[in-house]
Amino acid sequence: MELETSRAILKRFFEDFLSSLEVDVAVVGAGPSGLTAAYFLARGGLRVVVFERRLSVGGGIWGGGMMFPRIVVEAAATPILEEFGVRFEEAEKRGGEKLYVADAIETAACLCLGAIRAGAKIFNGMSVEDVVVDAERRVRGVVVNWTAVELAGLHVDPLAFRSEFVIDATGHECGVCKLVARKVGQLDTKTGDVVGERSMFARRAEQELLENTREVYPGLFVAGMAANAAAGAHRMGAVFGGMLLSGKKVADIILGRLKDNK
Ligand SMILES: Cc1cc2nc3c(=O)[nH]c(=O)nc-3n(C[C@H](O)[C@H](O)[C@H](O)COP(=O)(O)OP(=O)(O)OC[C@H]3O[C@@H](n4cnc5c(N)ncnc54)[C@H](O)[C@@H]3O)c2cc1C
Repeated sequence: MELETSRAILKRFFEDFLSSLEVDVAVVGAGPSGLTAAYFLARGGLRVVVFERRLSVGGGIWGGGMMFPRIVVEAAATPILEEFGVRFEEAEKRGGEKLYVADAIETAACLCLGAIRAGAKIFNGMSVEDVVVDAERRVRGVVVNWTAVELAGLHVDPLAFRSEFVIDATGHECGVCKLVARKVGQLDTKTGDVVGERSMFARRAEQELLENTREVYPGLFVAGMAANAAAGAHRMGAVFGGMLLSGKKVADIILGRLKDNK
């Protein structure tokens, strides 16, 4: 049984890994925005790979607000919760707009299941440490290593994956944008670099997030908290509607671009 177990794991893993070497979209980070993007891209018929540094997928969603595992979304994002089968209810209204509350753990689980069932391949425990560029310095893929290698500080060369587009969905870290600004070329932001997020202003941050979800360097898109970090926009706390809408928006833009190219 021991050998059969090893063979089954390795065979299935390498089939999936090899089929992800050349894809339409590489998503960096399996938080809510990355998983939502992966779901809509895969459902749109694209080949999608997601690399997640940690073993657990879901990014910052598990902890809800201050580790109280409930999240809040605005009305505009409830159709996305419905699409993934996440249950939610109206929060008590004390003036202002209607808000809805959902279980953070159910949300993370449903987003993950939805993305996988739609056909996205998710590889956990792997960190994106660089991008691949072409002769025109356009981003053409990602460079990946085991997170364990990164943590141990081992000197091991990574592997490269080719993709038509890369999405930086690394959250506050905005890691892919930072390394592109440092090693490849100026980003399409106020400073040409990652500006860094501003203090909390939930309503404005949610609006800004959708405006900031876009291509920031040829071949490189930003979604989720990385989009506000890149642009120097506000943070919003445990409001997750913008993350879901940002993931859908980046998927819609890329689907449109690939359709135009064909
Ligand atoms: C200190 C702190 C403050 C926060 N404040 C806010 C806030 O103000 N507003 C808010 O909306 N949310 C906040 N959050 C958490 C909130 O849950 C996230 O912002 C939200 O989940 C963002 O969703 P996302 O999809 O953009 O990315 P995240 O949920 O952050 O997911 C990003 C994922 O990318 C992975 N990743 C990062 N770098 C790499 C890499 N190089 N290779 C592979 N994977 C990578 C991470 O492991 C993570 O799973 C905060 C979290 C922390 C820790």
